[in-house]
Amino acid sequence: MEEKSGRYFSEYFEKAIKNDPRYMYQAINSLKKEFVLFTGPMFGGKTTRMLSELDRYRYKGRSIYAFKPSIDDRYAESKIVSHNGGSIDATTIECADDIVDFLLEAGEFDSLNNKFVNGAPVIALDEVFMVKRAGEILPYLFKCGATIIASTIQLNSDGNPFSEILNIMPYATRVEVCPAVCSICGADAHYTEKIGGRKDFEVEVGGKDLYQPRCFYHFSYF
Ligand SMILES: [Zn+2]
Repeated sequence: MEEKSGRYFSEYFEKAIKNDPRYMYQAINSLKKEFVLFTGPMFGGKTTRMLSELDRYRYKGRSIYAFKPSIDDRYAESKIVSHNGGSIDATTIECADDIVDFLLEAGEFDSLNNKFVNGAPVIALDEVFMVKRAGEILPYLFKCGATIIASTIQLNSDGNPFSEILNIMPYATRVEVCPAVCSICGADAHYTEKIGGRKDFEVEVGGKDLYQPRCFYHFSYF
């Protein structure tokens, strides 16, 4: 039990049994491990939802490491920024293995024993579909004890799922679908229509000039 749960649990647990039973809540809370996925089309507020979830973990005193793909250069370079202006500092990465390298360098992770050194951190990743090997690395870090909070589109603009997302979804303890508003009729939009740019690019970064949220009826590919 202690082996897996790390520093916070043992600290709180000792206090709980010796002094004050109220610490039991902190002990249990420090063990809480989730894999939360905010998903849906573009402009559905996924990043906003992810940032407010991360706030909750910050209030709980958990260490948070946030990452974003380096090809996503919208808004700001070293922050995850939502469309409504909220933000959190983030490290840009090329590939999901960079998350492991970062945690190793930070002294947070012991890759020989596949465990975290200072209790279980919260690892946030924005735009998972753009991060190669996220489908292997996020479940791996979750199994090693991390809480994962991630945000991503799940379908490309042809209506097909991204492979990284197919790999992580079975591990999610909670999936929150965040619909946008259809740009044509105002109904809930679960799909992202590509209205410009290149047809042969699965991942092309763009805003409202390239993409629009669409409902089932107004999405061209269904
Ligand atoms: Zn519509």
